[in-house]
Amino acid sequence: MASRQAEYQALRDKHVPRGAFHATPSFVREAHGAVMIDLDGRELIDFAGGIGVVNVGHSHPKIVAAIQDQVQRYIHTCFHIAMYEPYVDLAARLNELSPGDFHKKTLFANSGAEAVENAIKIARHATRRPAVIALQNAFHGRTLLTMSLTSKVKPYKLGFGPFAPEVYRMPNAYCYRCPFGLAYPSCDVACADHLEEFFVGNVAPEQVAALIAEPIQGEGGFITPPPEYFAKLQAICRKHGIVLIVDEVQSAMGRAGKLFAIEHWGIAPDLLLTAKSLAAGLPLSAVTGRAELMDAPHVGGLGGTFSGNPVACRAALAVLDVLLADKLLERAERLGQEIRRRFDALQRKHELIGDVRGKGPMLAIELVKDRMKKTPAADETKKVVQRCYEKGLVLIACGNFGNVIRTLMPLVITDEQLDRGFAILDEALGEVAAGR
Ligand code: PLP
Repeated sequence: MASRQAEYQALRDKHVPRGAFHATPSFVREAHGAVMIDLDGRELIDFAGGIGVVNVGHSHPKIVAAIQDQVQRYIHTCFHIAMYEPYVDLAARLNELSPGDFHKKTLFANSGAEAVENAIKIARHATRRPAVIALQNAFHGRTLLTMSLTSKVKPYKLGFGPFAPEVYRMPNAYCYRCPFGLAYPSCDVACADHLEEFFVGNVAPEQVAALIAEPIQGEGGFITPPPEYFAKLQAICRKHGIVLIVDEVQSAMGRAGKLFAIEHWGIAPDLLLTAKSLAAGLPLSAVTGRAELMDAPHVGGLGGTFSGNPVACRAALAVLDVLLADKLLERAERLGQEIRRRFDALQRKHELIGDVRGKGPMLAIELVKDRMKKTPAADETKKVVQRCYEKGLVLIACGNFGNVIRTLMPLVITDEQLDRGFAILDEALGEVAAGR
Protein backbone atom coordinates (compact mmCIF):
# COMPACT_ATOMS: atom_id res chain seq x y z
CA MET A 1 0.00 0.00 0.00
CA ALA A 2 1.33 3.45 -0.89
CA SER A 3 2.42 5.46 2.12
CA ARG A 4 0.53 8.61 3.04
CA GLN A 5 3.71 10.54 2.22
CA ALA A 6 3.88 9.06 -1.28
CA GLU A 7 0.18 9.74 -1.81
CA TYR A 8 0.67 13.41 -0.93
CA GLN A 9 3.82 13.67 -3.01
CA ALA A 10 1.76 12.65 -6.06
CA LEU A 11 -0.98 15.17 -5.19
CA ARG A 12 1.61 17.87 -4.62
CA ASP A 13 3.20 17.21 -8.01
CA LYS A 14 -0.20 17.43 -9.67
CA HIS A 15 -1.43 20.60 -7.95
CA VAL A 16 1.59 22.67 -6.89
CA PRO A 17 4.22 24.16 -9.23
CA ARG A 18 7.71 22.66 -9.06
CA GLY A 19 9.17 26.15 -8.54
CA ALA A 20 7.97 26.02 -4.92
CA PHE A 21 11.03 24.02 -3.83
CA HIS A 22 11.34 21.69 -0.84
CA ALA A 23 14.48 20.64 0.98
CA THR A 24 13.04 17.27 2.04
CA PRO A 25 10.27 15.07 0.62
CA SER A 26 8.52 15.01 4.02
CA PHE A 27 5.00 16.13 4.81
CA VAL A 28 4.54 17.02 8.46
CA ARG A 29 1.84 15.58 10.68
CA GLU A 30 2.91 17.47 13.79
CA ALA A 31 5.92 19.26 15.20
CA HIS A 32 6.98 20.06 18.76
CA GLY A 33 10.17 21.57 20.13
CA ALA A 34 12.95 20.52 17.77
CA VAL A 35 11.23 17.47 16.30
CA MET A 36 8.88 16.99 13.34
CA ILE A 37 6.80 13.85 12.74
CA ASP A 38 5.92 13.07 9.14
CA LEU A 39 2.74 11.56 7.72
CA ASP A 40 4.18 8.06 7.99
CA GLY A 41 5.05 8.63 11.65
CA ARG A 42 8.80 9.08 11.07
CA GLU A 43 10.58 11.33 13.55
CA LEU A 44 12.94 14.00 12.20
CA ILE A 45 15.34 16.08 14.27
CA ASP A 46 15.02 19.62 12.99
CA PHE A 47 18.22 21.61 12.46
CA ALA A 48 16.42 23.86 9.92
CA GLY A 49 13.65 25.34 12.11
CA GLY A 50 11.45 26.19 9.14
CA ILE A 51 14.41 28.23 7.77
CA GLY A 52 15.11 30.01 11.03
CA VAL A 53 11.50 30.68 12.00
CA VAL A 54 10.95 28.60 15.11
CA ASN A 55 13.74 29.75 17.43
CA VAL A 56 11.35 29.23 20.37
CA GLY A 57 10.53 25.71 19.11
CA HIS A 58 7.65 24.23 17.16
CA SER A 59 4.24 24.79 18.76
CA HIS A 60 5.57 26.42 21.94
CA PRO A 61 2.66 26.20 24.44
CA LYS A 62 2.86 29.89 25.41
CA ILE A 63 2.73 30.97 21.76
CA VAL A 64 -0.15 28.59 21.04
CA ALA A 65 -2.05 29.98 24.06
CA ALA A 66 -1.52 33.60 22.93
CA ILE A 67 -2.73 32.76 19.41
CA GLN A 68 -5.78 30.91 20.70
CA ASP A 69 -6.69 33.77 23.02
CA GLN A 70 -6.38 36.29 20.19
CA VAL A 71 -8.42 34.35 17.59
CA GLN A 72 -11.28 34.18 20.06
CA ARG A 73 -11.29 37.99 20.36
CA TYR A 74 -10.82 39.04 16.71
CA ILE A 75 -8.68 37.78 13.83
CA HIS A 76 -8.52 40.75 11.51
CA THR A 77 -9.80 44.28 11.35
CA CYS A 78 -6.98 45.79 9.23
CA PHE A 79 -4.83 48.27 11.13
CA HIS A 80 -5.77 50.91 8.56
CA ILE A 81 -9.49 50.51 9.35
CA ALA A 82 -9.78 49.87 13.09
CA MET A 83 -6.57 49.82 15.07
CA TYR A 84 -5.77 47.35 17.83
CA GLU A 85 -3.52 47.15 20.88
CA PRO A 86 -1.17 44.26 19.94
CA TYR A 87 0.24 46.25 16.97
CA VAL A 88 1.12 49.23 19.16
CA ASP A 89 2.31 47.11 22.10
CA LEU A 90 4.65 45.12 19.87
CA ALA A 91 5.95 48.27 18.15
CA ALA A 92 6.72 49.77 21.57
CA ARG A 93 8.58 46.63 22.68
CA LEU A 94 10.69 46.42 19.53
CA ASN A 95 11.48 50.14 19.76
CA GLU A 96 12.57 49.64 23.36
CA LEU A 97 14.56 46.42 22.85
CA SER A 98 16.36 47.23 19.59
CA PRO A 99 19.79 48.87 19.75
CA GLY A 100 20.01 52.67 19.79
CA ASP A 101 19.22 55.25 22.42
CA PHE A 102 17.03 57.41 20.19
CA HIS A 103 13.34 57.77 19.37
CA LYS A 104 12.27 54.84 17.20
CA LYS A 105 9.09 53.77 15.45
CA THR A 106 8.09 50.38 14.02
CA LEU A 107 6.05 49.47 10.96
CA PHE A 108 4.78 45.92 10.43
CA ALA A 109 4.47 43.89 7.23
CA ASN A 110 4.01 40.18 6.48
CA SER A 111 7.27 38.79 5.11
CA GLY A 112 10.97 39.50 5.23
CA ALA A 113 10.89 40.70 1.64
CA GLU A 114 8.12 43.16 2.48
CA ALA A 115 10.16 44.54 5.38
CA VAL A 116 13.04 45.13 2.95
CA GLU A 117 10.73 46.74 0.39
CA ASN A 118 9.31 49.08 3.03
CA ALA A 119 12.74 49.98 4.38
CA ILE A 120 13.89 50.99 0.90
CA LYS A 121 10.71 53.01 0.36
CA ILE A 122 11.29 54.83 3.66
CA ALA A 123 14.99 55.47 2.96
CA ARG A 124 14.25 56.78 -0.53
CA HIS A 125 11.48 59.03 0.69
CA ALA A 126 13.56 60.38 3.56
CA THR A 127 16.68 61.05 1.48
CA ARG A 128 15.02 61.84 -1.86
CA ARG A 129 17.71 59.66 -3.45
CA PRO A 130 17.22 56.63 -5.72
CA ALA A 131 20.17 54.25 -5.32
CA VAL A 132 20.70 51.31 -2.99
CA ILE A 133 23.95 49.48 -2.29
CA ALA A 134 23.75 45.78 -1.49
CA LEU A 135 26.53 43.28 -0.88
CA GLN A 136 27.94 40.29 -2.67
CA ASN A 137 26.34 37.10 -1.24
CA ALA A 138 23.34 39.10 0.04
CA PHE A 139 19.88 37.59 0.22
CA HIS A 140 16.96 39.94 0.77
CA GLY A 141 13.96 38.11 -0.74
CA ARG A 142 12.11 37.06 -3.87
CA THR A 143 9.99 40.09 -4.84
CA LEU A 144 11.23 42.15 -7.77
CA LEU A 145 13.17 44.70 -5.70
CA THR A 146 14.45 42.24 -3.10
CA MET A 147 15.43 39.73 -5.79
CA SER A 148 17.36 42.56 -7.43
CA LEU A 149 19.13 43.19 -4.12
CA THR A 150 19.88 39.46 -3.80
CA SER A 151 23.21 38.22 -5.10
CA LYS A 152 22.91 34.55 -5.99
CA VAL A 153 21.67 34.11 -9.55
CA LYS A 154 20.62 30.45 -9.58
CA PRO A 155 17.96 29.72 -8.51
CA TYR A 156 16.76 33.11 -7.26
CA LYS A 157 17.12 35.34 -10.31
CA LEU A 158 17.52 33.18 -13.38
CA GLY A 159 14.91 34.09 -15.98
CA PHE A 160 13.10 36.58 -13.72
CA GLY A 161 14.62 39.82 -15.02
CA PRO A 162 14.71 42.62 -15.92
CA PHE A 163 15.63 43.64 -12.42
CA ALA A 164 14.90 46.81 -10.46
CA PRO A 165 17.20 49.70 -11.38
CA GLU A 166 19.57 51.66 -9.14
CA VAL A 167 20.89 48.63 -7.24
CA TYR A 168 24.69 48.52 -6.87
CA ARG A 169 26.60 45.53 -5.53
CA MET A 170 29.71 45.90 -3.41
CA PRO A 171 32.18 43.16 -2.37
CA ASN A 172 31.43 41.71 1.09
CA ALA A 173 33.47 40.85 4.19
CA TYR A 174 34.06 37.20 3.33
CA CYS A 175 37.27 36.48 5.25
CA TYR A 176 37.49 32.81 4.15
CA ARG A 177 37.41 33.91 0.49
CA CYS A 178 38.48 37.54 0.79
CA PRO A 179 37.40 39.40 -2.38
CA PHE A 180 40.52 41.56 -1.96
CA GLY A 181 42.89 38.63 -1.41
CA LEU A 182 43.80 39.93 2.05
CA ALA A 183 43.81 38.34 5.51
CA TYR A 184 42.33 39.59 8.77
CA PRO A 185 43.56 41.43 10.85
CA SER A 186 46.43 42.74 8.70
CA CYS A 187 43.82 43.77 6.06
CA ASP A 188 42.61 46.47 8.47
CA VAL A 189 39.10 45.60 7.23
CA ALA A 190 39.75 47.09 3.80
CA CYS A 191 36.41 45.67 2.58
CA ALA A 192 34.58 48.32 4.65
CA ASP A 193 36.92 51.18 3.63
CA HIS A 194 36.32 50.09 0.04
CA LEU A 195 32.92 51.83 0.15
CA GLU A 196 34.62 55.23 -0.44
CA GLU A 197 36.36 53.82 -3.53
CA PHE A 198 33.12 52.14 -4.62
CA PHE A 199 31.50 55.58 -4.92
CA VAL A 200 34.14 56.59 -7.48
CA GLY A 201 33.50 53.82 -10.00
CA ASN A 202 29.90 52.81 -9.32
CA VAL A 203 27.52 55.39 -7.89
CA ALA A 204 27.89 58.88 -6.41
CA PRO A 205 27.24 58.92 -2.64
CA GLU A 206 24.79 61.82 -2.98
CA GLN A 207 22.63 59.51 -5.12
CA VAL A 208 22.59 56.70 -2.54
CA ALA A 209 19.53 56.38 -0.29
CA ALA A 210 20.63 53.30 1.61
CA LEU A 211 23.16 50.59 2.13
CA ILE A 212 21.57 47.30 3.15
CA ALA A 213 23.50 44.50 4.87
CA GLU A 214 22.82 41.38 6.92
CA PRO A 215 24.87 41.17 10.16
CA ILE A 216 25.58 37.54 9.26
CA GLN A 217 24.75 36.79 5.65
CA GLY A 218 22.15 34.02 5.82
CA GLU A 219 21.38 32.40 2.48
CA GLY A 220 24.74 33.70 1.22
CA GLY A 221 26.61 31.28 3.50
CA PHE A 222 26.52 32.51 7.13
CA ILE A 223 29.32 34.89 6.25
CA THR A 224 30.36 36.74 9.38
CA PRO A 225 32.24 40.04 9.15
CA PRO A 226 35.11 40.98 11.47
CA PRO A 227 34.41 43.06 14.62
CA GLU A 228 35.30 46.46 13.10
CA TYR A 229 33.26 46.04 9.92
CA PHE A 230 29.89 47.58 10.76
CA ALA A 231 31.27 50.55 12.70
CA LYS A 232 33.43 51.43 9.70
CA LEU A 233 30.54 51.05 7.24
CA GLN A 234 28.29 53.13 9.47
CA ALA A 235 30.84 55.96 9.74
CA ILE A 236 31.09 56.20 5.94
CA CYS A 237 27.30 56.04 5.53
CA ARG A 238 26.85 58.83 8.10
CA LYS A 239 29.44 61.01 6.41
CA HIS A 240 27.42 60.83 3.19
CA GLY A 241 23.89 60.89 4.66
CA ILE A 242 23.20 57.28 3.58
CA VAL A 243 20.66 55.26 5.58
CA LEU A 244 22.18 52.07 7.00
CA ILE A 245 19.62 49.25 6.85
CA VAL A 246 20.49 46.12 8.78
CA ASP A 247 18.51 43.09 7.58
CA GLU A 248 18.03 40.84 10.60
CA VAL A 249 15.26 38.79 9.03
CA GLN A 250 17.23 35.58 9.65
CA SER A 251 19.64 36.59 12.43
CA ALA A 252 17.38 38.18 15.08
CA MET A 253 15.30 36.76 17.93
CA GLY A 254 18.15 34.93 19.60
CA ARG A 255 19.39 33.16 16.49
CA ALA A 256 22.91 34.54 16.90
CA GLY A 257 22.88 34.37 20.72
CA LYS A 258 21.52 37.88 21.25
CA LEU A 259 18.09 39.31 20.58
CA PHE A 260 19.59 41.13 17.57
CA ALA A 261 22.78 39.87 15.93
CA ILE A 262 23.97 43.41 15.24
CA GLU A 263 24.54 43.77 19.01
CA HIS A 264 27.71 41.71 18.40
CA TRP A 265 29.05 44.64 16.35
CA GLY A 266 28.02 47.33 18.86
CA ILE A 267 26.23 49.63 16.43
CA ALA A 268 22.66 50.87 16.16
CA PRO A 269 21.44 50.85 12.54
CA ASP A 270 19.13 53.55 11.19
CA LEU A 271 16.61 50.89 10.14
CA LEU A 272 16.52 47.33 11.46
CA LEU A 273 14.48 44.56 9.84
CA THR A 274 13.05 41.48 11.52
CA ALA A 275 10.75 38.66 10.39
CA LYS A 276 11.12 34.84 10.47
CA SER A 277 11.31 33.95 14.22
CA LEU A 278 9.58 37.21 15.22
CA ALA A 279 6.16 35.53 15.37
CA ALA A 280 7.28 31.87 15.61
CA GLY A 281 5.70 30.86 12.30
CA LEU A 282 2.91 33.36 11.76
CA PRO A 283 3.67 35.76 8.91
CA LEU A 284 5.00 38.99 10.41
CA SER A 285 7.89 41.32 9.69
CA ALA A 286 8.97 44.65 11.10
CA VAL A 287 10.91 47.76 10.14
CA THR A 288 12.19 49.43 13.30
CA GLY A 289 14.09 52.67 12.96
CA ARG A 290 14.80 56.30 13.67
CA ALA A 291 11.50 58.10 14.15
CA GLU A 292 12.42 60.92 11.78
CA LEU A 293 13.12 58.44 8.95
CA MET A 294 10.09 56.29 9.70
CA ASP A 295 7.86 59.38 9.64
CA ALA A 296 9.22 60.66 6.32
CA PRO A 297 6.61 59.00 4.04
CA HIS A 298 3.23 60.77 3.86
CA VAL A 299 0.04 59.40 5.42
CA GLY A 300 -1.16 56.45 3.32
CA GLY A 301 2.28 55.87 1.81
CA LEU A 302 2.92 52.76 3.91
CA GLY A 303 0.77 49.76 4.83
CA GLY A 304 -1.03 46.70 3.57
CA THR A 305 -4.26 44.77 4.17
CA PHE A 306 -2.76 42.03 6.32
CA SER A 307 0.27 43.97 7.61
CA GLY A 308 0.73 43.60 11.37
CA ASN A 309 -2.12 41.13 11.74
CA PRO A 310 -3.29 41.03 15.39
CA VAL A 311 -2.85 37.26 15.77
CA ALA A 312 0.72 37.50 14.47
CA CYS A 313 1.43 40.47 16.78
CA ARG A 314 0.13 38.53 19.80
CA ALA A 315 2.36 35.60 18.81
CA ALA A 316 5.35 37.95 18.56
CA LEU A 317 4.64 39.48 21.98
CA ALA A 318 4.61 35.94 23.37
CA VAL A 319 7.88 35.16 21.52
CA LEU A 320 9.58 38.11 23.22
CA ASP A 321 8.23 36.96 26.61
CA VAL A 322 9.52 33.44 26.02
CA LEU A 323 12.94 34.62 24.80
CA LEU A 324 13.45 37.03 27.68
CA ALA A 325 11.45 35.62 30.61
CA ASP A 326 12.34 31.97 29.94
CA LYS A 327 16.03 32.92 29.55
CA LEU A 328 16.22 31.46 26.04
CA LEU A 329 18.94 33.96 25.07
CA GLU A 330 21.22 32.51 27.75
CA ARG A 331 20.32 29.05 26.46
CA ALA A 332 21.16 30.24 22.92
CA GLU A 333 24.58 31.43 24.05
CA ARG A 334 25.38 28.06 25.66
CA LEU A 335 23.97 26.19 22.66
CA GLY A 336 26.21 28.24 20.38
CA GLN A 337 29.30 27.32 22.38
CA GLU A 338 28.29 23.67 22.29
CA ILE A 339 27.68 23.64 18.51
CA ARG A 340 30.95 25.44 17.83
CA ARG A 341 32.84 22.91 19.96
CA ARG A 342 31.22 20.11 17.96
CA PHE A 343 31.86 21.78 14.58
CA ASP A 344 35.51 22.39 15.52
CA ALA A 345 35.85 18.71 16.44
CA LEU A 346 34.23 17.67 13.14
CA GLN A 347 36.61 19.96 11.26
CA ARG A 348 39.60 18.26 12.90
CA LYS A 349 38.17 14.90 11.83
CA HIS A 350 36.81 15.63 8.33
CA GLU A 351 39.01 17.18 5.62
CA LEU A 352 35.81 18.25 3.85
CA ILE A 353 35.23 21.05 6.37
CA GLY A 354 37.21 24.12 5.30
CA ASP A 355 35.72 26.74 7.60
CA VAL A 356 33.60 27.03 10.74
CA ARG A 357 31.95 30.41 11.32
CA GLY A 358 29.04 32.35 12.77
CA LYS A 359 27.91 33.76 16.09
CA GLY A 360 25.95 32.16 18.93
CA PRO A 361 24.00 29.19 17.57
CA MET A 362 23.89 30.75 14.06
CA LEU A 363 26.83 28.65 12.88
CA ALA A 364 27.90 26.94 9.70
CA ILE A 365 30.54 24.76 8.11
CA GLU A 366 31.82 25.43 4.60
CA LEU A 367 32.66 22.26 2.67
CA VAL A 368 35.61 22.20 0.28
CA LYS A 369 37.14 19.49 -1.91
CA ASP A 370 40.64 20.70 -1.09
CA ARG A 371 41.57 22.83 1.92
CA MET A 372 44.44 24.58 0.15
CA LYS A 373 42.52 25.54 -3.00
CA LYS A 374 39.20 25.91 -1.14
CA THR A 375 37.34 24.37 -4.11
CA PRO A 376 33.63 24.48 -3.16
CA ALA A 377 32.26 20.97 -2.49
CA ALA A 378 28.69 21.57 -3.67
CA ASP A 379 27.89 17.97 -4.70
CA GLU A 380 29.32 16.59 -1.48
CA THR A 381 27.24 19.09 0.51
CA LYS A 382 24.09 17.94 -1.27
CA LYS A 383 24.97 14.33 -0.50
CA VAL A 384 25.67 15.06 3.19
CA VAL A 385 22.31 16.83 3.52
CA GLN A 386 20.54 13.93 1.77
CA ARG A 387 22.31 11.29 3.90
CA CYS A 388 21.37 13.22 7.06
CA TYR A 389 17.74 13.28 5.98
CA GLU A 390 17.76 9.52 5.36
CA LYS A 391 19.11 9.06 8.89
CA GLY A 392 16.48 11.34 10.46
CA LEU A 393 18.12 14.78 10.58
CA VAL A 394 16.82 17.78 8.63
CA LEU A 395 19.60 20.18 7.65
CA ILE A 396 19.74 22.87 5.03
CA ALA A 397 22.59 24.13 2.90
CA CYS A 398 23.29 27.70 1.82
CA GLY A 399 26.04 29.78 0.22
CA ASN A 400 26.43 31.13 -3.31
CA PHE A 401 28.21 27.86 -4.16
CA GLY A 402 25.69 25.77 -2.19
CA ASN A 403 28.53 24.29 -0.10
CA VAL A 404 27.66 25.57 3.37
CA ILE A 405 25.68 23.66 6.01
CA ARG A 406 24.05 25.87 8.63
CA THR A 407 22.37 25.42 11.99
CA LEU A 408 18.94 26.96 12.50
CA MET A 409 17.56 24.51 15.04
CA PRO A 410 15.05 25.65 17.66
CA LEU A 411 16.90 27.02 20.68
CA VAL A 412 14.89 24.64 22.89
CA ILE A 413 16.54 21.57 21.36
CA THR A 414 17.42 19.02 24.06
CA ASP A 415 20.98 17.79 24.67
CA GLU A 416 19.92 14.32 23.58
CA GLN A 417 18.48 15.62 20.27
CA LEU A 418 21.62 17.67 19.67
CA ASP A 419 23.78 14.59 20.36
CA ARG A 420 21.75 12.48 17.96
CA GLY A 421 21.81 15.18 15.28
CA PHE A 422 25.57 15.62 15.45
CA ALA A 423 26.18 11.87 15.46
CA ILE A 424 24.18 11.66 12.21
CA LEU A 425 26.10 14.57 10.67
CA ASP A 426 29.44 13.03 11.66
CA GLU A 427 28.43 9.69 10.09
CA ALA A 428 27.15 11.37 6.90
CA LEU A 429 30.34 13.43 6.47
CA GLY A 430 32.42 10.25 6.86
CA GLU A 431 30.33 8.30 4.35
CA VAL A 432 30.36 11.04 1.71
CA ALA A 433 34.10 11.62 2.09
CA ALA A 434 34.67 7.86 1.68
CA GLY A 435 32.55 7.91 -1.49
CA ARG A 436 29.96 5.62 0.08
N1 PLP B 1 16.25 38.89 4.32
C1 PLP B 1 16.96 37.86 4.80
C2 PLP B 1 18.28 38.12 5.47
C3 PLP B 1 16.49 36.55 4.67
O1 PLP B 1 17.21 35.52 5.14
C4 PLP B 1 15.24 36.34 4.03
C5 PLP B 1 14.71 34.98 3.85
O2 PLP B 1 15.40 34.00 3.96
C6 PLP B 1 14.54 37.45 3.54
C7 PLP B 1 15.07 38.71 3.72
C8 PLP B 1 13.22 37.27 2.85
O3 PLP B 1 12.27 36.87 3.78
P1 PLP B 1 10.88 36.23 3.30
O4 PLP B 1 11.20 34.89 2.74
O5 PLP B 1 10.05 36.16 4.56
O6 PLP B 1 10.30 37.16 2.30
